Amino acid sequence: MSLGQLLKMLGLGAVALTLGVEWVNWLARRLRPWRGPQGPLKEVLFFPSPITCTEHLYSPDRTSPCLCPLPHGIDTSFSRLLEHLLSACVSLELCVFSFSHLELSRAVLLLHGRGLAVRVLTDRDYMSITGSQIGALRRAGICVRHELSKVVHMHHKFALVDGRKLITGSLNWTATAVQSNKENVIVTEEPELVQPYRDEFSRLWEANDPANHNHHLPSSTATKGWHQ
Ligand SMILES: [Zn+2]
Repeated sequence: MSLGQLLKMLGLGAVALTLGVEWVNWLARRLRPWRGPQGPLKEVLFFPSPITCTEHLYSPDRTSPCLCPLPHGIDTSFSRLLEHLLSACVSLELCVFSFSHLELSRAVLLLHGRGLAVRVLTDRDYMSITGSQIGALRRAGICVRHELSKVVHMHHKFALVDGRKLITGSLNWTATAVQSNKENVIVTEEPELVQPYRDEFSRLWEANDPANHNHHLPSSTATKGWHQ
């Protein structure tokens, strides 16, 4: 091989390598979730949150102004939380210890009504306390599972919006937590944080499938708790 041929081959190799790297970069960009100038979404919300009107979030197409007595047009931690939840367009996976907040329940029911895949995992004891919204969710046809173990609590407080946005922190979905407690919530689309929560939700969902447990129990107690 002459020197000229060798240089030509090296040149072609370099071009091919450059094109290959470009193509891999292009593919990586296509496969990665959307990243703004600051990278994936990262937001921190602190509670308690003031009570303001959030009607516009439930019905963004509404044309007439809301006449309720609450303050309007104010962004709060709660309105941000609600906005993130209502941004769901495919699915909502919710894993929450205590769920009695009426507005959050309304949001979950609204998403279910829009045809989204909604799954809720909750605690065995807390799902039936006074004011719990779990019964309302089940009556609406939302698939709810609860911690089957009698000795541990399902104490998580996280939600996955469309499987790509994670909402997690100390906040239980109760009016007390939202309006009175000092609580924190992180909202993120960082895949390295979202994926373990997706995996854990799937694992807990399967582990708490009553179909896998009922056959160990007498039939009279098999469904006790499941339909509460
Ligand atoms: Zn209003």
